[in-house]
Amino acid sequence: MAGLHIPGFPRIGAHRELKFALEGYWRSEIDAGELEKIAAELRHRHWQLQQDAGLDYVSVNDFSLYDQVLDHACMFGMVPERFTRGRSDSDLDNYFRMARGRAPTGEPVRALEMTKWFDTNYHYLAPELDNNSTFTLHPDKLFDEIVEARSLGFTPKPVLIGPVTLLWIARGDSRLALLPQLLTQYVELLQQLKNLQVEWVQIDEPILTLDLEASWCQALRTAYATLGAVGSRLLLTTYFGDLRDNLDLCLSLPVDGFHLDSVRGGLEYVQAAKRISDDQVLSVGIIDGRNIWKTDLNAALEHLRPVKRVLGERLWLSTSCSLLHVPVDLDREKKLDAQQRSWFAFATQKLNELKVLALGLEGQGQEALAFNAEAIASRRQSKRIHKPEVAQRLAGITGADSQRQSPYPARAPHQRRRLQLPLLPTTTIGSFPQTAEIRAARADLRRGNLSQAEYEQQMLGEIQHCVKQQEQLGLDLLVHGEAERNDMVEYFGEQLEGYLTTQNGWVQSYGSRCVKPPVIFGDVQRPHPMTVRWSEYAQSLTDKPMKGMLTGPVTMLQWAFVRDDQPRSATCRQIALALRDEVCDLERAGIPAIQIDEPALREGLPLRRGDWQAYLDWATEAFRLCSSGVADDCQIHTHMCYSEFNDIIAAVAALDADVITIETSRSNMQLLEAFEAFDYPNEIGPGVYDIHSPNTPGVKQMVALIERAARRIPVDRLWVNPDCGLKTRQWQEVTPALERLVEATRILRKRLG
Ligand code: GLN
Ligand code: ZN
Repeated sequence: MAGLHIPGFPRIGAHRELKFALEGYWRSEIDAGELEKIAAELRHRHWQLQQDAGLDYVSVNDFSLYDQVLDHACMFGMVPERFTRGRSDSDLDNYFRMARGRAPTGEPVRALEMTKWFDTNYHYLAPELDNNSTFTLHPDKLFDEIVEARSLGFTPKPVLIGPVTLLWIARGDSRLALLPQLLTQYVELLQQLKNLQVEWVQIDEPILTLDLEASWCQALRTAYATLGAVGSRLLLTTYFGDLRDNLDLCLSLPVDGFHLDSVRGGLEYVQAAKRISDDQVLSVGIIDGRNIWKTDLNAALEHLRPVKRVLGERLWLSTSCSLLHVPVDLDREKKLDAQQRSWFAFATQKLNELKVLALGLEGQGQEALAFNAEAIASRRQSKRIHKPEVAQRLAGITGADSQRQSPYPARAPHQRRRLQLPLLPTTTIGSFPQTAEIRAARADLRRGNLSQAEYEQQMLGEIQHCVKQQEQLGLDLLVHGEAERNDMVEYFGEQLEGYLTTQNGWVQSYGSRCVKPPVIFGDVQRPHPMTVRWSEYAQSLTDKPMKGMLTGPVTMLQWAFVRDDQPRSATCRQIALALRDEVCDLERAGIPAIQIDEPALREGLPLRRGDWQAYLDWATEAFRLCSSGVADDCQIHTHMCYSEFNDIIAAVAALDADVITIETSRSNMQLLEAFEAFDYPNEIGPGVYDIHSPNTPGVKQMVALIERAARRIPVDRLWVNPDCGLKTRQWQEVTPALERLVEATRILRKRLG
């Protein structure tokens, strides 16, 4: 039989047990022993699932209490001094302090920087290194889990992040200079694993799917020349893309096996199979670890059979990457109908797919394969997926549909006349605090303790409160506050045809935080207006202009599980058309400004730079398609955050939004550098208040930020606003912060007006 394994399993638990345990621990409701007990139960359960599915090895060290990268930082002693100096808390609390900047005990301190793991929605903590960094080995967690797995009767395959990827994802200049030192620790670690008689070590170098400079390629050669000599059996693991120009390099490294992502990497594995040597294995990641669709197992077998003939026992089967990126168990979904259920495989179900594939290669498992074929055909042919009217409408789109009637300089005077805003208008990004009452109302609605009518009445009350607050604060362009939204994507996903939302499809985003991405399973259409009555009501309460609030097509795509039977660009266009209807309805309802959020625009960028432009072209076109149905006097806003935009500023301009509000306060207006080389043509509101920080800046600071901006951008195209939505904050923080923002604007109007 082919060898079976997975690069990793989700650790959060089918019932999010880890989340609740962590949060209980942080609130001191449970102690370290209880937390560890729950963690051990989860590991045991997940190993059992792997073994029950017939996997040859269970993955060990993919489990983490917070983040696997942080675990590696701790394992190699990459602990910045601020976490060790005068420390009084336990190792566990210090670990959480590195992640969160605080712990149940111990002084608060600046946490490690959190950033996205390649092109996923998982966030890791970046190790901090500098020229003086030294490394020490602390492998207890890893060794304990190996012992634990064995004592329960499993065969462990430890999972490590490789040294070169670990340096790549760390922060600090000249990190490569630290490689020799770091290798010494890896050699020691592999030696000890060998002494423990571990059969295989999975060592991940996903940077092989990126554009690599020569120095990093050389680092990989150096690293594996050293590590390959230790004598532990290494499975060099890559994922999230194809290897392209790095394929030769990868296959030249002296390891015992390779894992390739064949979902994103296409048929590179077929080439690899011909080229690896007789004593090397090839693990083919043929089951999608990034999406929730059932694999077409019969098609997969067609591809695998010839490879199996070449490799025999040396062919291993796997998921494309760790299953960290998909929900745990489809059986937790009680509301899906039988047909829809038959289209999906979550992490637990994917284990079983591996087993069926292995059987299939032996000419067995006919019943399961027939069942699979039926499910695949049901999805391919379903009328719920393919809607002729959507296809027709798409076919009718012309270039003019993604162009505003007039260019910005001609539109702007119409908008000025209609909106009557002062110089440096103030606005917010959309959401106001999601209070305990709002969340309780939603929970009551879900449980049936509140009727739909009662719930909506309460939301109208929230809108009223929010509008009144903004009037009192003296803001200029108001918002309704988004009280009615659980989440900026799910809210729309619940209302659009072609989307479905799950009950428990949670995926870890970082630490104890999970997201529940909706699924785009079919052609997208808008059966009815989604936000109009809220915005209309909000506008009826005030003489000030109201800004409608939508989530843009790229973000609606990016933060969902997307159908895999057509290009993402095609799905994005469908979403854009559905949202275009909403934009036009808002305009018709008299809403003079509409914001279309695209916080995920940048994170959709492909891993390889050469692929960027094609993506940016269709992404910006989708945005314009959704926003261009309105007259010149309707002001289109967009909002972006979570990243730096300097390298995609031309694409941001190509959105042709009248106004963009954008995160800058954390980076101290780093964005402005982009304006030296590039004349941003439209209006812009550089965020002056970092809403993610509990500390609100003073008036002086905000004035200084806008004055800096005014040196680059004409003052009559500048707005004043926070840098993101306020939903995670409390009113008692928001009110004084916005008071200061309005006060700062008054001063600026005098100085710059
Ligand atoms: N309008 C959204 C809000 O204010 C934008 C959120 C975001 O950028 N992530 O919450
Ligand atoms: Zn934001």
